[in-house]
Amino acid sequence: MITHKTIALIAHDARKSDMIQWVIFNAETLLKNKLVCTGTTGGLIEKALAEIVGADFESNVTKMLSGPMGGDAQIAAMVVEEKIDLCVFLIDDLTANPHEADIQMLLRQCRLHNIPVAINRHSADLMITSSLWGTKYAPTDPTYKKFKR
Ligand code: PGA
Repeated sequence: MITHKTIALIAHDARKSDMIQWVIFNAETLLKNKLVCTGTTGGLIEKALAEIVGADFESNVTKMLSGPMGGDAQIAAMVVEEKIDLCVFLIDDLTANPHEADIQMLLRQCRLHNIPVAINRHSADLMITSSLWGTKYAPTDPTYKKFKR
């Protein structure tokens, strides 16, 4: 089980209800980790977790700026600094976003720095339950070799 890691959670507006359902489904695990979220997503997640835990809830949610104001870029910077272990990013694929450049930057930095990134609930469920967490598993870094024909 994933514990004591830092998990980034971001959901576009049309995907926020999916994110909250996913958080409720995985609450027990998520409460054992640190969560870093874009602003609005983080507020909703914090509320959902507080309702589950009750009066004893001590927030494990760090809220960055809202996505369109630079929250995705802040999380991308944390990826670059190797401060994120897993990223769940529920993107609205049916609406154009003003911060498309930041979205692509975050996804690119996850790819470049070999950070697992789930872009739908199914992949997020598989990644968060991976039996590799907490083992001696060492991910292989990506290579960028020139391909010779
Ligand atoms: P939000 O940002 O959580 O502040 O809504 C998400 C996004 O649009 O990237």
